Amino acid sequence: MSKKILVIGGSAAGPKAAAKARRIDENAEIIIVQKDKDLSMASCGYPYYVGGFFDDRNMLISSSTGVVRNPAYYMNAKKITAYTETEAVSINRAEKLFPAKNSSAGKHWICLTTP
Ligand SMILES: Cc1cc2nc3c(=O)[nH]c(=O)nc-3n(C[C@H](O)[C@H](O)[C@H](O)COP(=O)(O)OP(=O)(O)OC[C@H]3O[C@@H](n4cnc5c(N)ncnc54)[C@H](O)[C@@H]3O)c2cc1C
Repeated sequence: MSKKILVIGGSAAGPKAAAKARRIDENAEIIIVQKDKDLSMASCGYPYYVGGFFDDRNMLISSSTGVVRNPAYYMNAKKITAYTETEAVSINRAEKLFPAKNSSAGKHWICLTTP
C-alpha cells in the first residue's frame, strides 16, 4: 500500500516539502492543502510587483519556464493533489482524519491522511 502524505500550507515550504517527498517516493499519494488562493507564491517578489516593476501577477506564481503553478501544474508535473482556498481546521491523529474547510464551496470534507 502506498503512503499518504499530507502537507498543510502551500506557499514556499509546503510545495518544497511535497516535491521532495515525491522525489523520495514516486508512489506516495501526496496532498497539499493551501488556505490561500495561490500556490508557491514568491512573496519576495511582492514589493517589485506593488512597486510597478512588472504588472503580470502570474509571474509571482510561475515556474522559470512561465508555467503557472496551479493545482493542474502540480498534478501534471508532480502527481501531487493540491487543494487551494482550503483550510485544515484540525487533525484527528487517533482516527487519521482531518477536516478541511473550502472557502469558495463553504463546505467541510474529510481526507484520510494515512493508510
Ligand atoms: C514582502 C516580502 C518579501 C520577502 N522577501 C524575502 C527575501 O528577499 N528573501 C527571503 O529569503 N525571504 C523573503 N521573504 C520571506 C519569505 O517569503 C518567507 O520566508 C516564506 O514565504 C516562508 O514560507 P513558508 O511556506 O514557510 O510560510 P508562509 O509563506 O507563511 O506560507 C504558509 C502557508 O500556509 C497556509 N496556511 C496556514 N495555515 C493553514 C491551514 N490551517 N490550512 C491550510 N493552509 C494554511 C498559509 O495560507 C500560507 O499560504 C519575504 C516575505 C515577504 C512577505
